[in-house]
Amino acid sequence: MDVAVVGAGVVGCSVARHLALAGASVVLLDRATDVGNGTSKANTAILHTGFDTEPGSLESALVGRGRRLLADYAAAAGIAVEPTGALLVAWDDEQEAALPALLAKAIANGCDDASLVGADEVRSRERHLGPGARSGLAVPGEWAIDPWSVTLAFATEAVGAGVLLRLGAPVTGVDVGAEGHQVQVPTGSVRARWLVNAAGLGADLLDELLGYRDFVVTPRRGQLIVFDKLARRLLTGILLPVPTARTKGVLVSPTTWGNVLLGPTAEDLEDRTDTATTAEGIGRLLADGQRILPDLVEEEVTATYAGLRAATEYRDYQIRLHADQRYVTVGGIRSTGLTSSMAVAEHVAGLLAGAGATWSGPPVDSVPPVMPPLGESQMRPLRDPALIAADPAYGTALCHCEQVSRGEVRDACHAPVPATDLGGVRRRTRAMNGRCQGFYCAAEVVALTAAETGSDPAELTRTPR
Ligand SMILES: Cc1cc2nc3c(=O)[nH]c(=O)nc-3n(C[C@H](O)[C@H](O)[C@H](O)COP(=O)(O)OP(=O)(O)OC[C@H]3O[C@@H](n4cnc5c(N)ncnc54)[C@H](O)[C@@H]3O)c2cc1C
Repeated sequence: MDVAVVGAGVVGCSVARHLALAGASVVLLDRATDVGNGTSKANTAILHTGFDTEPGSLESALVGRGRRLLADYAAAAGIAVEPTGALLVAWDDEQEAALPALLAKAIANGCDDASLVGADEVRSRERHLGPGARSGLAVPGEWAIDPWSVTLAFATEAVGAGVLLRLGAPVTGVDVGAEGHQVQVPTGSVRARWLVNAAGLGADLLDELLGYRDFVVTPRRGQLIVFDKLARRLLTGILLPVPTARTKGVLVSPTTWGNVLLGPTAEDLEDRTDTATTAEGIGRLLADGQRILPDLVEEEVTATYAGLRAATEYRDYQIRLHADQRYVTVGGIRSTGLTSSMAVAEHVAGLLAGAGATWSGPPVDSVPPVMPPLGESQMRPLRDPALIAADPAYGTALCHCEQVSRGEVRDACHAPVPATDLGGVRRRTRAMNGRCQGFYCAAEVVALTAAETGSDPAELTRTPR
């Protein structure tokens, strides 16, 4: 292999795709049994502009470029976006005083369409804001995006371009030799000339196996509340707080599936696996929600979840080339990696090229895959008479809350990067994602998934959703 990429989150899948399209033979390894099963599955799902990143930083450059690349890619692949824009709202004197500097920062980051908005206009744009909302900053380029389909699209295109995807493959060691790396996984070792570390929360640990201690990952947990679709009427776009150095703060955002998100918290933890939500965290979010959008907290809660940001002691991304070892670390992709993923891949490819890497094959001619239309504003199969006429499985509802047909669950089990467990089905179809959280449909989803994948239904019910 030309390259081994460790980590099949949104960043690793993007890097693998990019290198494969350039002609590299690539193996993509992840310890999980599905792609996008780490931080990439639990974020706030915003296609950021990077308006509040540090001008001149690597993050600023890669978020700005990544946003443009991903917006185009999403349009080509049929990945749902909601181009709502965002309104950053000040709630006190200090925050209001910070707005002109934030506007200057936004413009320095290339967001020329950002503008200051007076208190009256803030209130006329967002009529349900709580008392105390002052003036704000409008950032039209902040959009909601379907985050799961992004990783899946990258992985699908990567596999189509020849990437060998090895899931359930934790990397436990790396031997660096003159000709290449022997990357150890429990079933043996994989040989590759170049190594890319896109291991997210485990990037520093993999770095250590190669002899580096350039940064330490501290998981920063973000808990979120998903509100029912009936709450969607309460806001027109994304409502942002004034960010601090540590966090972007608690926001309220529409999702492409028609729900409303409130969150995330920012809690530094030691446990790199602790994605539990807590009564304290949810309580704090509800208190913030009560202040920002009082009517929101009266709405039904559909779900809660938490994701872990790969924070380090540095604010900026930690992307480093170790040319003598033919190794690139892609670390510290903290809270903007969904947006920047395509630009990160470009950047990594540039570093590899600069270090003299060449690929064994010619560039691959490829177009983005067409992803299932999961967005609330897209034509879902159950509403598509032509599709149903061609295949009645698309006309039989399986998950009524999220309007998912049997045909979609069947397709997810046979996709180029197939679902192998209930979480995989959920991220590919939205089944069990709605108001009842699978109470009514899970048994049928399990039966169909088991039949299509040949899995044991009892085993499937034990897999994480
Ligand atoms: C609460 C929250 C909100 C966020 N909101 C946004 C947002 O709105 N917009 C945005 O752009 N970004 C957002 N982000 C950031 C974004 O989600 C991340 O930057 C991005 O998902 C990181 O992707 P990744 O591929 O680097 O990491 P991951 O998705 O974690 O992937 C790393 C992979 O490496 C694998 N791995 C680790 N160690 C090993 C090993 N030794 N062997 C094999 N495999 C290994 C893991 O299993 C994992 O699958 C948010 C993050 C959080 C937590």
